[in-house]
Amino acid sequence: MLILFKLLKTSYLKVFQTVSELRQYLLDASNLGKTPIGFVPTMGALHAGHLALITASKQQAGLTVCSIFVNPTQFNDKSDYDKYPMQTDADLEMLLHAGCDVAFIPAVSEIYPGGTDAGATVDLGYIGSTLEAAHRPGHFEGVVQVVKRLLDIVEPDLLFMGQKDFQQCMVVQRLIDAFGLPVKLVVCPTEREADGLAMSSRNMRLTPDERAAAVKLSQALFYIRDHFRTEDPEKMIAEQTVQLNADPLIRVEYIAITDGRTLEPVTAPKPGRTVALIAAKVGDIRLIDNIILQQ
Ligand code: AMP
Repeated sequence: MLILFKLLKTSYLKVFQTVSELRQYLLDASNLGKTPIGFVPTMGALHAGHLALITASKQQAGLTVCSIFVNPTQFNDKSDYDKYPMQTDADLEMLLHAGCDVAFIPAVSEIYPGGTDAGATVDLGYIGSTLEAAHRPGHFEGVVQVVKRLLDIVEPDLLFMGQKDFQQCMVVQRLIDAFGLPVKLVVCPTEREADGLAMSSRNMRLTPDERAAAVKLSQALFYIRDHFRTEDPEKMIAEQTVQLNADPLIRVEYIAITDGRTLEPVTAPKPGRTVALIAAKVGDIRLIDNIILQQ
């Protein structure tokens, strides 16, 4: 079904729910020279972080497609999936205002017509077993499955993703390399609230007290960034973990200082890309964040 979502008299957002209609539209657009195609996959509950990806796509692409699909196969925790925020009307309004050309909001049966068990797999090596992979078994297998399917449907030239999900970007680059897909991954910086908290759809589920506590995650990362050259990485990780866990609302799953190309732990400063990553529960809400310490 094609819906024309109209708010302003002159501006339209094309909204598709089926693969066949989306593909026909993209073929026609491509024939009209609306290229390159930029693609922003999301799970909805959009915020300024998502819109920054749309803006980046509009700057670099001739046509911008945004998908909104809460992918069941990447949730290792069923209640997290059940409670994932959904606000499709508000999302479409935001996409319209951001100047996105096409929204794709498929049902699960459109993405997985043969059921959720089939799909692409990639040997992720170490990045498939550490940090997020270790704490969310099956998560990246679900990410690989849905991103491959979405890339096959949209066939974009440019794929825009957020550094906020640092390990996910590495996984998707592996997927692109493994299948030799003709798409360029563009990683965009993390958008933050004024106090430093990384924007996330899950933030809207925080209570006021949890929201006040959540800012401590980014503060821990900023501390590590500011002291990375002078303090021992393992000592900083231990101290920041203790400090965060002193807040009864926070339970740290991991803080890691790693090689930004392999995710292997970095125990002493060395040349090359280095990144600090954190995952913690604030109340019942699991949040992640990261910061580049060195390019
Ligand atoms: P999600 O809807 O959470 O699956 O995110 C969709 C895309 O938006 C992913 O590429 C995320 O990395 C990206 N994203 C999420 N939060 C942010 C943020 N705060 N800044 C930049 N990109 C983000």
